[in-house]
Amino acid sequence: MTDAEITIIGAGVVGLAIAEKISESFTDVFLVEKHSTFGQETSSRNSEVIHAGIYYPRGSLKARLCVEGKTLLYDYCKKYEIPFNNCGKLIVATSRDEITIIEAVKHAAINNGVDDLIVLGKDQIYELEPNIFALKALLSPSTGIVDTHSLMKRLEINTLTNGGQIVYGSEVTGIRKIKEGYEITLLDADKKNYSFTSKVVINSAGLTSDKIFEMTGMKDVNLKIMFCKGEYFRLNPPKNRLISRLVYPVPVHNLEGTGIHVTIDLGGGVKLGPDVTYLESNIYDYKVTPSKQYVFYRSTRKFLPSLEFDDLSPDMAGIRPKIQKPGEPVRDFYIEEESKRGFHGFINVIGIESPGLTSSLAIASYVKNLIRI
Ligand SMILES: Cc1cc2nc3c(=O)[nH]c(=O)nc-3n(C[C@H](O)[C@H](O)[C@H](O)COP(=O)(O)OP(=O)(O)OC[C@H]3O[C@@H](n4cnc5c(N)ncnc54)[C@H](O)[C@@H]3O)c2cc1C
Repeated sequence: MTDAEITIIGAGVVGLAIAEKISESFTDVFLVEKHSTFGQETSSRNSEVIHAGIYYPRGSLKARLCVEGKTLLYDYCKKYEIPFNNCGKLIVATSRDEITIIEAVKHAAINNGVDDLIVLGKDQIYELEPNIFALKALLSPSTGIVDTHSLMKRLEINTLTNGGQIVYGSEVTGIRKIKEGYEITLLDADKKNYSFTSKVVINSAGLTSDKIFEMTGMKDVNLKIMFCKGEYFRLNPPKNRLISRLVYPVPVHNLEGTGIHVTIDLGGGVKLGPDVTYLESNIYDYKVTPSKQYVFYRSTRKFLPSLEFDDLSPDMAGIRPKIQKPGEPVRDFYIEEESKRGFHGFINVIGIESPGLTSSLAIASYVKNLIRI
């Protein structure tokens, strides 16, 4: 007999969604988190966009789980009264070259089952967003924004209501395979070591999910996480009223990011970003670089011409858990039960960068289907 049936490591939005889903059907479910509460890392440092699922390679988990997750998330928000806004987004072409990309984006979206995109000409763009300059645009009506904190709070409440247990302030420092499952060692809030056993382990540790993977003895250079920082600036009032939906440039090569875009938030704020910078070492560097203001200003001014340099202020930064090395083609989410590596009952959820928030509820169902007890 093990102490726990299922242990989930990491209480970001993905770990919480998994915990909620699994605690509906299993008893003795533990969610372990090193911080004193949920969502202290990537899940609180992102654009809070509910993505439509437009850009990702056909058939990839990113494409499938985003499209499925988007619908689940809108329904969940309505059911639990979590603040959201299905505001839509424009993908804008500001040059002739970019018009060709618009067509390619529409085609990719259709391949992913996103068939609601509408091509807009200059006049139609002006009607929707009079402050935006674009020669052509795609309107994505199913894109939106969500209050991530409220979402995570609800997932936490439901997990506890289902009988799941959440242990905060406890860092997983060791994992050993045993006959019936795994022995997990924690360093608790009082800096004391504590061990328990679990039949199934789900690694949803975000930026350090590769370290959890390695603690078991598994090795795979292709699953090394590289910290990839994204910084944001915000628009100072009154320029925060220039747009009423999200505005993205056409996507950049290899989808390392979706380009410096403009997102509204539920509090009436407007953010520019994130940019894409691979950090040289995996350090939690959340500083915003004031000297980047000009780059943000220049790239946004292309489609928001009334913008002035002083309208921007440094805002915040987040870090993507990338398994895609710089310059490499886009990598998919890695979500696997590891029996084939000799680790029965160990499920890795690694490389959950964007659209991880949008996909979280779909990832939870996908992971649940991998459990064999
Ligand atoms: C700049 C940026 C913008 C983004 N924008 C969007 C967007 O608009 N829409 C979208 O869908 N997605 C977006 N994403 C992606 C999204 O934020 C992530 O996919 C999602 O938050 C990942 O959640 P997670 O639970 O996997 O990871 P995390 O939130 O990082 O949670 C992992 C948790 O594991 C814990 N942990 C780690 N190691 C241990 C250990 N040893 N013991 C115990 N606990 C541990 C951590 O403390 C952390 O709380 C963005 C990401 C970034 C960086």
